[in-house]
Amino acid sequence: MNWTQIVVFGSLTGFTLGWTYHYSTETMNWAEARKWCQTNFSDMVVIQNQLENDYLVSLLPPRNSSPYFWIGITKTYANETWRWIGNNSTWMGNESWAENEPNNEHSTEFCVEIYTSRGHNRGKWNDEKCNARKYATCYKAQCTSSTCDRGRCHEIINNVWSVPRPILIMETSCAPP
Ligand code: CA
Repeated sequence: MNWTQIVVFGSLTGFTLGWTYHYSTETMNWAEARKWCQTNFSDMVVIQNQLENDYLVSLLPPRNSSPYFWIGITKTYANETWRWIGNNSTWMGNESWAENEPNNEHSTEFCVEIYTSRGHNRGKWNDEKCNARKYATCYKAQCTSSTCDRGRCHEIINNVWSVPRPILIMETSCAPP
């Protein structure tokens, strides 16, 4: 299966940690998309704040219509709270959802896509049926035992092509040495 790699490196006084985003070029349902992320990278994208949301969208290919891109937030029944996979984020922005979403239109819209259209819906979310086919968005953490600190690893995303300063610090769980 084809995939595209987006490499974003951060430099921090002598050593480099890189957090990378990746997306598929073929569509798949949400569960397949997560498995694809786990097989090839770390996991499906978990968004931790608006800055990351916007940055992720800036890296994804613009699309004019569905299918868009799955992200790692889901629920299992209608009245349940939305939750991110991996427990690394509880973030829910006030303006995350597209207008009139989440609408649970098919009564079973328990997965979430992110729009990469141009215009006012760009970067907004929509609840969708989990068996719909969309592109996968994944991240790969680069933590090693030497950068693991009490079960947590911090990685800096730094856009080396523009501003030479960290724009995001990502936290993941890791295994201590
Ligand atoms: Ca919807």
